[in-house]
Amino acid sequence: MPLIHFLRRMQNIPAFKDFLSVSRKVVIITHFKPDADALGSALGLAGYLKKKGHTVTVVTPSDYPDFLSWMPGNEEVKIFTKEKSGDFDQLISGCDLVCCVDFSSLKRINELGEMVERSSARRLLIDHHLDPERFADFEQWDDTAASTAELIFELIYVLGDKAAIDSDIANCLYAGVMTDTGGFRHSNTTRKVFEIAAALVDHGAEPARVSKLIYDTNTLERMRLMGFVLNERLHVIPELRTAYIPLRIEDLKKYSSQTGDTEGLVNFGLSIKDVKLSVLISERKENVKLSFRSLGHFSVNDFARKHFDGGGHKNAAGGQTNLPFDETLKKFLDLLPQYKDELLAD
Ligand code: 5GP
Ligand code: MN
Repeated sequence: MPLIHFLRRMQNIPAFKDFLSVSRKVVIITHFKPDADALGSALGLAGYLKKKGHTVTVVTPSDYPDFLSWMPGNEEVKIFTKEKSGDFDQLISGCDLVCCVDFSSLKRINELGEMVERSSARRLLIDHHLDPERFADFEQWDDTAASTAELIFELIYVLGDKAAIDSDIANCLYAGVMTDTGGFRHSNTTRKVFEIAAALVDHGAEPARVSKLIYDTNTLERMRLMGFVLNERLHVIPELRTAYIPLRIEDLKKYSSQTGDTEGLVNFGLSIKDVKLSVLISERKENVKLSFRSLGHFSVNDFARKHFDGGGHKNAAGGQTNLPFDETLKKFLDLLPQYKDELLAD
């Protein structure tokens, strides 16, 4: 088993251990439109807590891509709907512990956030996003962690329970570690990431299988959508080192787009030589969603927070507006010149 050089340890680990010393009713919540890190972390943590004798329910505020449905425990996930809001309220008010994984602002889980606020359950926050809200009793938070899965892995180790990590849990956590580092390619890919990935393999994670299930199970429509985006929607402003992709509902309809089909498109922009900032602006029924990626010093977390009611990490962030699509695009393009120096700095 590889030696993990340093394990993050939340401050009140003895109190948390003590709290888990009797069987608890636990609800684990991911952010809206969970990605592989959010869902993998939630299901990995769920698998672990179940083994320890707790009753666990994983809740997502929305649906999620089909390419995550292989994850062990997926069939028991409860997807929030407004119609069943009462059931979720009951579940959350009646549990002992709410675990918030891969987000740290209750507004990212919409109505569920109000339920968490009203509930007297204890709260555990496990996350790596910048500027967290302090609403939790127990916190395993670190913005230097490449993924939330990494933090779950460390929490289980620090609790002295590494033997509980079986291949199902390991595959879920491996999915989070792999995807939040962009397949071990982003600047957050540290030595420790490899150490944890190696340890997960020792626990039974299957890298080739997980990678195939997540990255290479495209539908033909999705491949066609990618082709269309590259041909017709990807724009580059060389003098601002910026790429952007405006994507309208009609485009998505044309390619029968499903949840998750637009994931990763923003990275195409960033793969162009000299581009420092890439943005995907996608029209949704309820609002316009923006996905930001950057290389180097330009903080898309700051940019998304300041202008688009969002946030995330320094080099990967998201946001949204209620403006019409064209106005959102105009707002973005009009903002760019004031960041020219920053964009050209690296
Ligand atoms: P994506 O562009 O893939 O949706 O998100 C990139 C990163 O930013 C992810 O870590 C995601 O959790 C975070 N993120 C996306 N949208 C928001 C948002 O509206 N608010 C905050 N605080 N973070 C976001
Ligand atoms: Mn994450």
